[in-house]
Amino acid sequence: MTRAILTLNSGSSSLKLGLFTEALETMALAHVDRIGRREAAMKIRDAHGADLPMPPHAPADFNTNAAALRTALEVFAQDFPGLEVVAVGHRIVHGGKSHAAPVRLTEELMKDLARLAAFAPLHQPHNLAGVRAAVETFPGVPNIACFDTAFHRGHPFVADAYALPRAYYERGIRRYGFHGLSYEFIAGELAQSAPALHAGRVVVAHLGSGASMCAIQGGRSMDSTMGFSAIDGLPMGTRTGQLDPGVLLYLMDEEGLDSAAISDLLYKDSGLLGLSGISNDMRTLEGSAAPEAEEAIAYFTYRIRREIGAMAAAMGGIDGLVFCGGIGENSARVRARVCEGLGWLGVGIDPQANLAHAREIGTGAVRVMVIQTNEEIVIARAAAAVLQGLAA
Ligand code: ADP
Repeated sequence: MTRAILTLNSGSSSLKLGLFTEALETMALAHVDRIGRREAAMKIRDAHGADLPMPPHAPADFNTNAAALRTALEVFAQDFPGLEVVAVGHRIVHGGKSHAAPVRLTEELMKDLARLAAFAPLHQPHNLAGVRAAVETFPGVPNIACFDTAFHRGHPFVADAYALPRAYYERGIRRYGFHGLSYEFIAGELAQSAPALHAGRVVVAHLGSGASMCAIQGGRSMDSTMGFSAIDGLPMGTRTGQLDPGVLLYLMDEEGLDSAAISDLLYKDSGLLGLSGISNDMRTLEGSAAPEAEEAIAYFTYRIRREIGAMAAAMGGIDGLVFCGGIGENSARVRARVCEGLGWLGVGIDPQANLAHAREIGTGAVRVMVIQTNEEIVIARAAAAVLQGLAA
């Protein structure tokens, strides 16, 4: 028997799974994309990034998150005979104001988290569906929730509140911030490999399909570009990022859009896709000669630069800038365009190191790094710790 910890990150149309030994060594990572569509596909890799054997599957095998989970587990079972899953860790996007530390999921907690779905309607229901699928698949095995909002819960009041009447703050209308598991990983990496920087002021740019930045001082989140919802802050693949609330009033009053239409507009039709009219995918935009693709990239990098200035101001300066996420880790062009024009802040990068995606690419006073994030290991560590606590 191989005892293993499974991690699940269930999105609206994707599922990421991680398989770890109890000693927290990575056994396999799997990614199922475009769940529910004909083009649904799964990739499974070992700890070194090498593809593991993947038997052919029909689209029906990836119809829903539960089906995708079943399929992925079949593949894991084939590749790792005698597998015994002893705990399942889940990325839960929203913990609200009451939940921060990783915790074993109970029926009562599930009800509480389901109520928070109104705070993250496009993410939380999928996360909870992942939990239910795991409960069915592994009866009696502890399920552990890891909250994406947790890393930001220590924000000072001024970074946590909106200037609405105070009663709204008490009712939970706050700037929660997201991508916390990714930021926790990066902060942990810096604590290990760059302790002086970890003790200082760092802006971390998590640039993927979803994108946000975090001001981290002494290892703690001081501010984030994301607020109440995962739409705020930077423009993303299909999300607007920060938008004047007056636009929403106008859309409702003058264009007759209801909340469902506005939700689709803000979450699904905007960002890089909306601006370019071509794609939400940075690789496609970088490969396109269309001026709209160039404008979308220019907008994206401009907003990141602007927010880096704001994050630096929030901390009274900046000692380090870290890029992570699919775009942050892989797009030398985006990194270069973000950093050009930030010389006044002490940010400069070496073009060769940047092109090579080196870990250290800075030349100025500010250390600039590219670090591959790993939300899965953060979830696995938390699950292992909760499991140990249960056994004690
Ligand atoms: P998610 O938020 O879904 O986890 P990822 O972190 O995987 O997203 O990031 C996806 C984004 O990363 C896409 O826009 C994709 O185009 C971009 N990306 C991945 N590889 C590259 C690359 N080599 N060059 C430019 N962009 C890339």
